[in-house]
Amino acid sequence: MVSLAPIEYRIFAPLGVLYDFLIGSFEILAILVIVAVVVFWIRRNIIRLQRFIKPEMKGWPKKDGNMILYIELVLMILFLTMNGADFKLQQMGVEYYTVAGSFPISQFITPLFDGMSASSISMIERTAWWLHIVGILCFLNYLYYSKHLHILLAFPNTYFGKIGPKGQFKNLESVTAEVKLMMDPTADPFAAPAEGASSPEKFGASDVMDLSWVQLLNSYTCTECGRCTSECPANQTGKKLSPRKIMMDTRDRLEEVGKNIDANQGEFKDDGKQLLGDYITNEEIWACTSCNACVEACPVSIDPLSIIMDMRQYLVMEKSAAPAELNNMMGNIENNGAPWPFSQMDRVNWTQEGR
Ligand code: SF4
Ligand code: SF4
Repeated sequence: MVSLAPIEYRIFAPLGVLYDFLIGSFEILAILVIVAVVVFWIRRNIIRLQRFIKPEMKGWPKKDGNMILYIELVLMILFLTMNGADFKLQQMGVEYYTVAGSFPISQFITPLFDGMSASSISMIERTAWWLHIVGILCFLNYLYYSKHLHILLAFPNTYFGKIGPKGQFKNLESVTAEVKLMMDPTADPFAAPAEGASSPEKFGASDVMDLSWVQLLNSYTCTECGRCTSECPANQTGKKLSPRKIMMDTRDRLEEVGKNIDANQGEFKDDGKQLLGDYITNEEIWACTSCNACVEACPVSIDPLSIIMDMRQYLVMEKSAAPAELNNMMGNIENNGAPWPFSQMDRVNWTQEGR
């Protein structure tokens, strides 16, 4: 009988029962992927869950999400088709198609090949094999243009995720020193700074170059699932802020900077743009309540709040561009040691009232 199967066909078949177990497990995983893909597609396109139809999900993000589902569906169908045809050829006793593997799912599609010649079934089996393997290689290349890169980056991102208390903010050494000075009446304000104490060249972040590599890794790891945004109280109350958009904007700007560097022989040429202002607005940044709900909700340990806080720090410390209410409060803290507009000397006046 004619067969297109190569001589190295199923080279791991000598593993015997282990091989049967592996092939059977892959088939069960494949059918589970197909069921999951159908459910996810329905949630995105028929039920249209709120978190999938937010403004930042229009255009490419929506297409990308669906494209990934279509590719996965096709790859799994090709895998089961390949195995079903293979199983049929094994049953027919075709040369090279030695009995190997177990086919708990694809055995149900073998009737589709009834009445076909061995060479036709072999052609189907080989075609499905090649399309499946080439499809996987193409899909791996597509990952770098897609949010699906998270399937590779989720592991290192989770490993490097913040494990300290969620509400803990990092303090700036120079600011801490100033506050201590204010709190200590005996301190000498003209004393030389402690050895090793330094002030950063720039406070906070206005562009991706100011963010840490973990924050940049976060942006490439985002699955765009929207769990953070659906938990965000600012977003729920109609504010512009969406923590998912913060991560998507950071990744988009990073891509733009990368292309700029590629086009300029490894150097970044100022393009008159930055993350804050051109991608993320001040309105979004100041809408954040710093509640950490987005950080808690993220399945892959992404911290959108850290980017928001770095940008706020830039606005306050570099630009003095906080909202007026906050500026008043910060001025009061600086001058009165409290958020209220009263002198420290008047703090206990209320104890005299009514006397
Ligand atoms: S920390 Fe800010 S961005 Fe995150 S959920 Fe709370 S309000 Fe939204
Ligand atoms: S929850 Fe995490 S992965 Fe999902 S959109 Fe938000 S930041 Fe991205």
